[in-house]
Amino acid sequence: MTELHAQTLTELAAGLEHAEFTSVELTAALLDRIARRNDELNAFITVTADEALAAAARADAARKSGKAGVLNGLPIIHKDIFCTRGIKTTCGSKMLDNFISPYDATVVEKLASAGAVVLGKANMDEFAMGSSNETSYFGPVRNPWNPDCSPGGSSGGSSASVAARFAPAATGTDTGGSIRQPAALTGTVGIKPTYGRVSRYGMIAFASSLDQAGVITRSSEDAALLLGVMAGFDERDSTSIDQPVPDYLASIGDSIKGLRVGIVREHFDAGLEEETGKRVKEAIRVLEALGASTVEVSLPNLNLSVPTYYVVAPAECSSNLSRFDGVRFGYRAEHAEDLLDLYCRSRGEGFGDEVKRRIMTGTYVLSAGYYDAYYLKAQRVRQLIANDFRKAFADVDVIAGPTAPSPAFKLGDKVNDPIQMYLNDIYTIGANLAGLPAMSVPCGFVDDLPVGLHLVGPHFAEEVLLRCAHQYQGETDWHKACPEAYR
Ligand code: GLN
Repeated sequence: MTELHAQTLTELAAGLEHAEFTSVELTAALLDRIARRNDELNAFITVTADEALAAAARADAARKSGKAGVLNGLPIIHKDIFCTRGIKTTCGSKMLDNFISPYDATVVEKLASAGAVVLGKANMDEFAMGSSNETSYFGPVRNPWNPDCSPGGSSGGSSASVAARFAPAATGTDTGGSIRQPAALTGTVGIKPTYGRVSRYGMIAFASSLDQAGVITRSSEDAALLLGVMAGFDERDSTSIDQPVPDYLASIGDSIKGLRVGIVREHFDAGLEEETGKRVKEAIRVLEALGASTVEVSLPNLNLSVPTYYVVAPAECSSNLSRFDGVRFGYRAEHAEDLLDLYCRSRGEGFGDEVKRRIMTGTYVLSAGYYDAYYLKAQRVRQLIANDFRKAFADVDVIAGPTAPSPAFKLGDKVNDPIQMYLNDIYTIGANLAGLPAMSVPCGFVDDLPVGLHLVGPHFAEEVLLRCAHQYQGETDWHKACPEAYR
């Protein structure tokens, strides 16, 4: 039998089903691996060993009495942005270092009801602001493929954990690329569904019109399985969409013959590292060999997506983070002289530099006199970008291109240059601005570091993305590659 840590979620589900091992055995094996190896990567903020073993025992009992849910006994990790009842939820910030949520996020609740076992809470960029996991109050996460490199961000603890086989799957959130970019940089699979597909209730808000929850796994089949459980209408989230959730696994084996794949003219320009571009083009040739046809499309406003995002996201963040004032929520500074001083000190000490940079930018673009020039203008450009996608999707079923402009970069390389860091999301941000589903799939290596193929679809086309990725994975083995030190 393949060692437990090396198995995918689907393989583990079959093993549990056939009583090859119990969930308690599986959970204990992974907890042991985490205890021995997490220090190398710093992927966790909290490991919930006792709760996990108790949940595993309940799952084993449920299976014995014939009441196993679809994820019964399967271990996962939650990004520490999802509220978990009774367990610390920090969002990677000193501000919430002592926050214990009184309730579960909908995503947490749904996965738990299906029987999933939570091993812990994954490290992340502070309030999900970052592309390298270096803005975390709890320190950077390292990339299992090369410990000197970043695992991407902001879901870097999630991506590193899945790549290092600490768990077969982890949740993530994606506001401008934070599931897909870390998936690309760690050779894992990441999917961000359509805006509104998965409930945001209990997910600590960064930029509410862009935030969406999703998963990081090692195969598209596993992603389909988890997404099917997480998705669906939630009356506690006013932006949640009331539409039935298809069975993503039902069609995943269908052929992609005749699928029209859009290749974006602007994707393969100067900003893309050459070898990364080659791997992506090779992946597109595999899709062609599977019967897909390629069509050139244009997203003329793509170059405006990063500047647009860096007006809209900070604006929404400055509003969302105003609640962390040391009184209503969050860290409270000591020795304040008066109320104003308490606010200033609590926020000054509780937030890190990147979060402060965003709050200041956001407050500025929303202030009287600048609102029209920045925020309103950005919302208009956002519409142009969404229209570009709409036009492209009149001719194609999916768009394929690079997830990130290069493979994983060194920790420390970009952290002092915010613009360089922001440009890492040039290919992913458009999907958030337009609310579209998008996915990253491993498609090869450059200098022993993984590269991701990015697939974007029209609203609610998750099924097409997952099928396309699954067919690609039937022809290639990139998603099976494991960093040598973590086999
Ligand atoms: N890297 C982008 C940012 O810093 C996106 C982050 C995200 O998707 N949460 O905002």
